[in-house]
Amino acid sequence: MKNKILVTGGAGYIGTHTCIALHQAGYDIVIYDNLSNSSREAVNRVSTLIDQPIEFIEGDIRDSESLRKVFAAHQFFGVIHFAGLKAVGESVAKPLMYYNNNVSGTISLLEVMAEYEVKNFIFSSSATVYGDPETLPIDENSKRSCTNPYGQSKLVVEHILEDLAVSDKHWNLITLRYFNPVGAHASGQIGEDPNDIPNNLMPYISQVAVGKLFKLSIFGNDYPTVDGTGVRDYIHVTDLAQGHVAALNYLEQQDSSEKNSSVGFLPINLGTGKGSSVLELVTAFTDVTGQNIPYQFADRRAGDIASCYSSATKAKTLLGWEAKLSITDMCADTWHWQSTNPNGYE
Ligand code: NAD
Ligand code: UDP
Repeated sequence: MKNKILVTGGAGYIGTHTCIALHQAGYDIVIYDNLSNSSREAVNRVSTLIDQPIEFIEGDIRDSESLRKVFAAHQFFGVIHFAGLKAVGESVAKPLMYYNNNVSGTISLLEVMAEYEVKNFIFSSSATVYGDPETLPIDENSKRSCTNPYGQSKLVVEHILEDLAVSDKHWNLITLRYFNPVGAHASGQIGEDPNDIPNNLMPYISQVAVGKLFKLSIFGNDYPTVDGTGVRDYIHVTDLAQGHVAALNYLEQQDSSEKNSSVGFLPINLGTGKGSSVLELVTAFTDVTGQNIPYQFADRRAGDIASCYSSATKAKTLLGWEAKLSITDMCADTWHWQSTNPNGYE
């Protein structure tokens, strides 16, 4: 058995897929999640898929005492930190809740990690930290700026991690900036399960396809893009999960290398390097699934940008990771999950 990893937010969408990938790569995992945006059922399904019970602790990252008990009971090599709130609109309405959960929560986690001398950390950041990019594709040295509290909370944590790396050379802090995660596990057993009407494009499309929603509104058809609709870098959640395994392998290599040099603060994009427009995604979904997606054009959504796609070079060079799955796989797996679980984990 390889090292033991604490996965905060491991019951959520990206966390569940990553737990499976970690298990397959031989890691021992402990999930810590307050279930504020997930369910026990998701954890049960991960257990079934890996054919093994999972150590799950229901707890909040802001609860230092609860975290201390977990760190006292286990010898962790590192932490993969998914736990956080992620709805942009909600963050505008409830900024304090977002800063408290995402920023204070991360500080509390890092403090307990420091107490227990666990200094390998992989953080879920987002392409949203790049704001409206000046050039495309976006590389890791691009300027960062955010326009909403959710994005700010990610950016503030990035700054905290940068300061931490300067203060103490023993910290190894990989910040993974995800582009647009979509898709589901090939089994159709786990996937994205939004609480409310989805804000994101792919879950919205799949809920229209399954008949839960009537029609897709496409926000803007006058952007300077291939067909006027917004362009994003969609990445299959299974590829994203593998990106975390690659990041962990990198930390282990550094840890065991003779130089034992510290990683410090290391931001890495996880994307495919390719952009697709809203209309291209809708067409691909229809082609792959045979489901018609009725849509109408609507006004641009406030805060949206025209185009956003990654430079995926650093992940390939440094981690030896690149996305393998196509838009076709993303649509097929989303539909497999949605059509077999029309009400998510309920
Ligand atoms: P998710 O909501 O499915 O998973 C997050 C998990 O964290 C949930 O299970 C939730 O219950 C848990 N959680 C939230 N606050 C917590 C707290 N205070 N203590 C303990 N657990 C807590 O979201 P996801 O899509 O899997 O995203 C995972 C991470 O990746 C988040 O930090 C998110 O901001 C980031 N991210 C997501 C996307 C995306 O499009 N899905 C894009 C970029 C970055
Ligand atoms: N979008 C849309 N209708 C929707 C949801 C999203 O037209 O119901 C568009 C949105 O304007 C953007 C793209 O789809 O151009 C991706 O949006 P999403 O919210 O999934 O990701 P983000 O904008 O956060 O990158």
